[in-house]
Amino acid sequence: MSPADRFDFDIAVAGGGPAGAATAIELARRGRRVVLLERDRFPRFHIGESLVATAGPCFDRLGVTDAVRAAGFPAKWGASLSTHDGGGVRAVEFASSDEVAQPQTWQVERARLDRILLDRARDAGAEVREGCRVAACELAGDGVTLRLASESAGPSTVRVRAVVDATGRSGLLANQLRLRRDEPGLANVSIYAHFSGVEPLPSPKSGDIRIVARADAGWFWLIPIDERLTSVGVVLPRALYLSLERGDPGRMLAALVADTPVVAAWLAGARREWPVRVEKDFSYSVSAYAGDRWLLVGDAGSFLDPVFSTGVAIALESGLEAATALDAALAKGEPRLAGFRAFERTQRQRYARFRRFVVAFYTPWFRDLFFQPAAPSALFRAVVTVLAGIWKPRLRTRLLLEVFFAAAALQRYFRLAPRLVLRGPGLGYPSRSRAAARRPA
Ligand SMILES: Cc1cc2nc3c(=O)[nH]c(=O)nc-3n(C[C@H](O)[C@H](O)[C@H](O)COP(=O)(O)OP(=O)(O)OC[C@H]3O[C@@H](n4cnc5c(N)ncnc54)[C@H](O)[C@@H]3O)c2cc1C
Repeated sequence: MSPADRFDFDIAVAGGGPAGAATAIELARRGRRVVLLERDRFPRFHIGESLVATAGPCFDRLGVTDAVRAAGFPAKWGASLSTHDGGGVRAVEFASSDEVAQPQTWQVERARLDRILLDRARDAGAEVREGCRVAACELAGDGVTLRLASESAGPSTVRVRAVVDATGRSGLLANQLRLRRDEPGLANVSIYAHFSGVEPLPSPKSGDIRIVARADAGWFWLIPIDERLTSVGVVLPRALYLSLERGDPGRMLAALVADTPVVAAWLAGARREWPVRVEKDFSYSVSAYAGDRWLLVGDAGSFLDPVFSTGVAIALESGLEAATALDAALAKGEPRLAGFRAFERTQRQRYARFRRFVVAFYTPWFRDLFFQPAAPSALFRAVVTVLAGIWKPRLRTRLLLEVFFAAAALQRYFRLAPRLVLRGPGLGYPSRSRAAARRPA
């Protein structure tokens, strides 16, 4: 029996979100026999609606740019940053960085974006099975057997040469192999829903994301996902969440909106159109992203707080990277860990680069500079480059970023910039300067 006969497909991709679809599209385009197994039936709701500029080149490679454009999603050119009282307003414009190839990206309804990507995987030649959950994965030296639970066909198995886990936060393999590493310092909670009637930003910024620093360590997002609906969510560090009066999530979200003046003003005539959802502890990484015959992509590997909207772009990039690594490994022989070292390194480096920003965002000294309307423009442009999704910028940008982080570190002890007036737990200014931090600048 030839090796091709021993396997039902070359590769199985578990999960059909952006990471899984990108992996399957790229592998199928390279002529590999791919099966994509998705638990749900699309379209289905998913959070993760604001894209960064690096999504565009991925869409080009995947052949979906025309379909994404035709979907009529709101055009996003950047972000509008402000503090809870409407102060500290600062525009993040992706076009201000000359490293950003495609400064215009989109705010998306994920149900529709994910459907576009899954349809493209089918068109590219992958076999896509919806309503088909991967219940377990048996990894062996000579191949991988996946146990499936399908709505329509009942239990079955698929045998492949390698598996790509793209099951998102469910983390099929990360849980099975005990790879997941929590991020206790980023154990945040998010409460969100969709609203109609939210006051838009004036054109041409109407498609931008609004990020509002609350008067405590929390923050709000407002993302217009179509002409009618805006996704509105708040993220709170766990200690802060626990210190608040809890109960019905709808009431909690309403109270947090009411307590954030600029958001309350934008939502004055708004109506909630969806149930309120809550997500907790969403940041984590893994001890390994690949092994013999397996790779992890997107959220199935790691995920960082949503503050910089990098989740979908990273899912697409890692899917493309996994497909490239697997294709090369299969061309040489068996898909073993030795062929995935560069893939592993890339996942780790990207996670570490973005993590540095996310961890810093929850410190008051970083926020003092980040929400500072008068921050020096060369430094802020360097920050914008990373906010656009470019995690490996040029040397000059990297040096400017070091200066920015050094300034934030100094702000902790000296007042380089006016301090935001913050309250509540989780703020962490050194005690000798805490009183000063609370005084309005
Ligand atoms: C509160 C919050 C806000 C966010 N906001 C943003 C944002 O604004 N912008 C952004 O880019 N990102 C955002 N994200 C992150 C974003 O949601 C994810 O990073 C992104 O969806 C990851 O894509 P993925 O393909 O890896 O996983 P997913 O999109 O989660 O896809 C995984 C798929 O696997 C399927 N699946 C699960 N288990 C199985 C199984 N056993 N068998 C078969 N299929 C299975 C699921 O049904 C799902 O379709 C946010 C996340 C959170 C928590």
